Amino acid sequence: MYNAKAYSASSATSPLASTTIARRDPTENDVQIEILFCGICHSDLHQARNEWSAVFPTVYPCVPGHEIVGRVTKIGSAVTKFKAGDLAAVGCLVDSDRTCPECKQGFEQFCPNFTLTYNSPDKRSGGVTYGGYSESIVVDQKFVLKVPANLDLAGTAPLLCAGITTYSPMHHWGVTKGKKVGVVGLGGLGHMGVKFAHALGAHVVLFTTSPGKKDDAIRLGADEVVISRNADEMAKHAGSFDFILDCVSADHDINALLGMLRRDGNICLVGAPEKPLSVAAFNLLFGRKSLSGSPIGGLAETQQMLDFCGANNITADVEIIPIQKVNEAYDRLVKANVKYRFVIDMASLKKTA
Ligand code: NAP
Ligand code: ZN
Repeated sequence: MYNAKAYSASSATSPLASTTIARRDPTENDVQIEILFCGICHSDLHQARNEWSAVFPTVYPCVPGHEIVGRVTKIGSAVTKFKAGDLAAVGCLVDSDRTCPECKQGFEQFCPNFTLTYNSPDKRSGGVTYGGYSESIVVDQKFVLKVPANLDLAGTAPLLCAGITTYSPMHHWGVTKGKKVGVVGLGGLGHMGVKFAHALGAHVVLFTTSPGKKDDAIRLGADEVVISRNADEMAKHAGSFDFILDCVSADHDINALLGMLRRDGNICLVGAPEKPLSVAAFNLLFGRKSLSGSPIGGLAETQQMLDFCGANNITADVEIIPIQKVNEAYDRLVKANVKYRFVIDMASLKKTA
């Protein structure tokens, strides 16, 4: 084992602070990565503050971060996919059992024995896994992704969670030219959702609670913007959507959004608010509507998404911050004040004691 600098939360109410964690030395299939950039996902905040205690109780200290890009510093003897000096990326998963039916079909995100990048039992070293708010990470090569050479590195980091989490359901539910697609919430996930839906040729409508984000939404690829708290604007789109991707991090009116769907339309939840949403049955019955959900994505699809972004020059719009500003960034996330993903420049971690 070796020591690595990191930032961790020591309880649900304490701010993140500088710490040192132990990482395993790379074994034969491992890739050691010096982390250059790590995105800040709202999931990091939910977990640092133990807001998902019913499903994923947080083990402290918690080192969040699952939008990781960096450079390979060391490889194990059996590693063929990477060599020292290569760019590399890690998302939300660092392992799975590789033998279950889900893994065999490339759906590692549904493996009952997966290991998440942080706050997951660490089957290799014991304890709990630690994420990307850290100077380095050691991951089995199967779970390390290749970064297209033409993309901006800071803007690439958020693709590893916000990117795949929005790309995967759009592919699964057939977002394409000729479809009317809604994206709800212009944050990290939502702005990637707008970019992907636009790139796939759909007619894209952004639902937002923030009137000030309207011009940005159009620039990012939305054809129309609806202020979701304005009943008149909502009424104009009632019954017209094929598909809506709900990227909202907090409690909101899902029934109003169900009213936007056409017959057989579908709302897919990717947002994971702390409290359950309340659904009125008749809003699903009339119009035979569906409410679905989708978590992250598997390794093959994540690589496919990165390659799609490389081919189409798609990256996240980022605000780069030093790690010393992480608590400020969390407070701004709660206020929906993000344009549109905070990314930590991990070089700043070197400045901590
Ligand atoms: P984010 O950057 O904070 O964006 C969330 C957006 O939701 C805000 O910018 C805001 O957009 C909207 N919003 C916030 N509070 C709202 C409210 N009370 N009512 C209506 N809209 C509200 O968060 P993120 O990183 O994109 O993550 C979004 C959610 O997805 C989080 O719950 C996160 O944990 C979850 N997530 C799920 C997965 C998965 O695998 N399914 C993966 C990653 C993240 P406007 O200002 O435009 O209204
Ligand atoms: Zn995430």
